[in-house]
Amino acid sequence: MSLIDQDLALNGGPKVREKPWPGWPMHDEREAKAVQAVLESHTWGTRGPKVQELEAKFSAFHDAEFGVAVTSGTTALEVTFRACGIGAGDEVILPPYTFIATASSIVAVNAIPVFADIDPDTYCLDPAAAEAAITPQTKAIAAVHMGGCPAEMGRLRDLARKHGLRLIEDAAQAHGAAWDGTRIGALGDAGAFSFQNSKNMSAGEGGMVLTNDREVYERAWSYHHCGRVPDGAWYDHRILGSNLRMTEWQAAILLVQLERVEEHMAIREENAAHLNERLAREVDGLVGTAESPGTTRNAYHLWMGKYDAGAFGGVSRDKFLSAMAAEGIPIGRGYNPLYREGAFRDAWDASHCPWACRLYQGSVDYARVSCPACEHVCDVGGVWIYQSALLGPREDMDDIVAAALKVREHAEQLRD
Ligand SMILES: *Cc1c(COP(=O)(O)O)cnc(C)c1O
Repeated sequence: MSLIDQDLALNGGPKVREKPWPGWPMHDEREAKAVQAVLESHTWGTRGPKVQELEAKFSAFHDAEFGVAVTSGTTALEVTFRACGIGAGDEVILPPYTFIATASSIVAVNAIPVFADIDPDTYCLDPAAAEAAITPQTKAIAAVHMGGCPAEMGRLRDLARKHGLRLIEDAAQAHGAAWDGTRIGALGDAGAFSFQNSKNMSAGEGGMVLTNDREVYERAWSYHHCGRVPDGAWYDHRILGSNLRMTEWQAAILLVQLERVEEHMAIREENAAHLNERLAREVDGLVGTAESPGTTRNAYHLWMGKYDAGAFGGVSRDKFLSAMAAEGIPIGRGYNPLYREGAFRDAWDASHCPWACRLYQGSVDYARVSCPACEHVCDVGGVWIYQSALLGPREDMDDIVAAALKVREHAEQLRD
């Protein structure tokens, strides 16, 4: 009896996949040596040589002039918005299909998140929806390179230029991705990266701001370093900043992780191409998302798919995911629309700043936001596979296809 004819694992049958998937984060003796060297250097923090080397190498790798290493992707976003002059009274347009930090960091600088829908094919911000959301209060657009695939930077750049807006990249998932032959991160005014545990380069936590704009760089540098300036005295604080400095431990590990990025990218791209090709040929109802026009490298922090229950024997997305997980496939549903998260739907209070700030001339009501493309992806159509599952041999992709075929073969057992 062939594999796909066996009982579903959900119903007690054998799993398609028993073997473990590649673990994450990855390390070898190079990280161990790097951490040991920091230990013995007696410089464990406060902008030591490893942090400075990482800023230089990471920015060069991303075709950017300047880098500022910080504590997380969340604080990288906050520093980026602040350094770009976003503050009280300003609206920032962002997609609702992203991690909460893209929105919470906007509120952290006293600005107002305004959600605009995503493109149903790429899951990235739809430039037409972004344009429709522009008001006299709009100061910036925050594009998210969702899953590691660049947002539609051509049209977003034109839009920002036309309306005099800042264009900021949330590149937390997109280390090494490229658009129109240039790495992402400084395609707009500035970009924010994350080195959190799950990200394509990791030190457990950490972040980076990239920019080609010297003024933005100097403000970001000063803000993350207690308001100091590069050539100033230690107790010379020119602005009110914070301490958001990365440690030497993190930088030492990330310098090694950076050496692996190209190799990992190539493996993920090859595996994703194989998976997409087999799905398109053999599995009606499940395809990989499209890439934005101009995409030259996809970092595949996620393999994102479009699921169509109608073409899949009427099995709902969530039933499909449970059946796939039971077969041993590391697969998930992903985000909720951010405006439906409790933070915006329930806990948001328009009588508090920044919404009630006297500098803010507009008004928003998150309870009334509707982004149908995002809701479709979150509720019934979106599928995620994490990047580390794309780092094994190509046969791993065949297991994903085999599991999908097996689940479809038994669709009648899974219909609601
Ligand atoms: C991970 C992530 C962040 C936040 O990064 P942290 O380092 O976890 O603070 C922001 N935006 C996106 C899209 C992310 O995936």
